[in-house]
Amino acid sequence: MAANEFRMLIGGDLVAGEVGSYDIVNPSTEHVVGQAPEASSAQVQAAAAAAADAFGAWSRTKPEYRAELLSRAADLLRERVPELVPLVQAETGATQRVTETMQVPTCVDRLRRYARGAMEPATIPLPPGETMTTALAPGGLMSAIAVRQPVGVVACITPYNFPIVNMAGKIGPALAMGNTVVVKPAPQDPLAVTVFGQIMHEAGFPPGVVNVVTGSGAEAGQALVASADVDMVSFTGSTPVGRAIGEVAGRDMKRLLLELGGKGAGIVFEDADLKTAISTIVSAWAFHSGQICTAPTRVLAQRGVYDQVVGGLQLAAGHLKVGDPLEADTIVGPLVSAVQRDRVEALIQTGISQGGELVAGGQRPDIETGFYVAPTLLAGCKPDNAAVQQEFFGPVVVVVAFDDEDEAVATANSTEFGLYDYVFTADTSRAMRVAKQLRTGNVGINTAQRNHEAPFGGFKMSGVGRDGGSFGLHAYSELQSIIWPG
Ligand code: NAD
Repeated sequence: MAANEFRMLIGGDLVAGEVGSYDIVNPSTEHVVGQAPEASSAQVQAAAAAAADAFGAWSRTKPEYRAELLSRAADLLRERVPELVPLVQAETGATQRVTETMQVPTCVDRLRRYARGAMEPATIPLPPGETMTTALAPGGLMSAIAVRQPVGVVACITPYNFPIVNMAGKIGPALAMGNTVVVKPAPQDPLAVTVFGQIMHEAGFPPGVVNVVTGSGAEAGQALVASADVDMVSFTGSTPVGRAIGEVAGRDMKRLLLELGGKGAGIVFEDADLKTAISTIVSAWAFHSGQICTAPTRVLAQRGVYDQVVGGLQLAAGHLKVGDPLEADTIVGPLVSAVQRDRVEALIQTGISQGGELVAGGQRPDIETGFYVAPTLLAGCKPDNAAVQQEFFGPVVVVVAFDDEDEAVATANSTEFGLYDYVFTADTSRAMRVAKQLRTGNVGINTAQRNHEAPFGGFKMSGVGRDGGSFGLHAYSELQSIIWPG
C-alpha cells in the first residue's frame, strides 16, 4: 500500500474501497494529499453486519475492560499526534492554531473522558426515581429498577469541520456504553479518520466493534442509514441532510441523535462590555474560518451601541490575517472546498441584494491557490435577509439593529435554527431573563467558552437529542425498567 493510500476498517480488516479511491485535496495548495477509499454499498452493509455480529459479546464486556481499551486508544492516539497534525491540517486546511488546539488534542481528551465514562453506570447511582421505585399495585407492593442498556449498532456520520474530534465525540460515549459503531466521515477529509480507525484496531477493540467506511453521503451514507443492522444514527451535519436521514431512520424506529446547523445570535446590549463582546465575536468569526456551528455570526446590536459594534468589527476584520494556514500568524485559512467557497460567496451576494451593506471583505483575497473568502461583514441587515436567516459556515458576520429586549429576543428567535446564542450585558438578571426566552439549546453569557460536561444540542431545526459529558452516555443508551413483586 503506498504511503498516501488509506484503508477502511471493516470487521477487523483494513480494506480498499470496492468502488475505487478518490483524491483528497489540500484546500490551501490544491495539491493532492492522498487517496481515500470509496466504499461500495455491499461494503457498508458488511461493516454494519460486522458491528451487529460483534454487538452481543461487546455489550456484555465489563465496563472496566471498555475503559481500558478506550484509555489505550487515547494513549496510542497521543503518540501519533505528530503524524496526525500535518495530515489533519493538510486535508481540512485548518490553521496551525486550530489544528494544534482543537483538531487533534481534543480528540485524545474525548476518548479519555469516555474511558472514565465507561465506569459511570457501574459506579454512579442513577438519579433517584430512576434507580428504584416502590409502588402499591393491585397485586401488592412492586419494586422496579431502571437500567441503562446499549442501543446496538450505531452509525456515526460526521461533518468535515473537525473530522477526528467529531468521530471521538461519537464513538467515545457509544463504545463506553457497550454499543458497536460504524463511522462514516465527511468525503472532503476522511484520511485521518481512517488512521484513527487503525488506531482503535491496534488498541485491541475486537473485530467488528469499530468499523470505518469512507465515501459520499449519497452512496455510503445513505446505505448506512438504511441498513437493517443499524439501530441508531448519530449524525452531525447540515439541517437538510439531517432531515433526510430522520425520514429514512424514522421508518424503522432507529434511534436518532441529530446535531445540525446553527446561526448563533450574538446579542449585544448597550450596557455590555463592548471590548469583550467584539473580541468574542471576532474570535468566533475567525476561528476555523467560520466553519463552526456554534459561532455568533448573527450579531444583534442595540441601537445605542450599533455604530460602535459595527466599527469595532470592521476594524478587526482589517487585522485578521488571511492566508497560508501553515504560517503561525494566519488567523483565517481557506474553506474546505471550492464548492463551500462558492456557496458562501453566493449567499454574500444574496445578502447584499436584499439590502445588506458590505462593510468589510466580500471578495476573494489575492492568493494564488486555495478556497479563500475574505472575512466579510454585512451591516444594516433586516431580520428576514437570507444572509441573516441562512447558515454561511464561512467567515461572514451579519449585523442587525434592535431597540429593546423584546425585539432582541424576537429577532434572535426568528430563524429556523436554535443551537447556540450569546448575550452580552452587564445586567445579570437581564442575561438570565433573556437566556430563558431564547429558543436555543445553549446560551453563552459574556463568553464563547464551552463547558463540555453541559448538555449540548439544538432546539428547532438545529437537532434532536443531547450529548456532552454524561448526557453523551445517556444519548447512546436505552432505559430499561425491571419490575418485580416485593
Ligand atoms: P453535510 O450535512 O453536508 O454532511 C455531513 C455528513 O453527512 C457527511 O459525512 C456526508 O457525507 C453525510 N451525508 C450527506 N448526505 C447524506 C445522506 N443522504 N445520508 C447519510 N449521510 C449523508 O455537512 P457538512 O457540510 O459536512 O458540515 C457542515 C454542517 O454541519 C453545517 O450545517 C454545520 O452547522 C453542521 N455542524 C453541526 C454541528 C453541531 O454540533 N450541531 C457541529 C459541526 C457541524
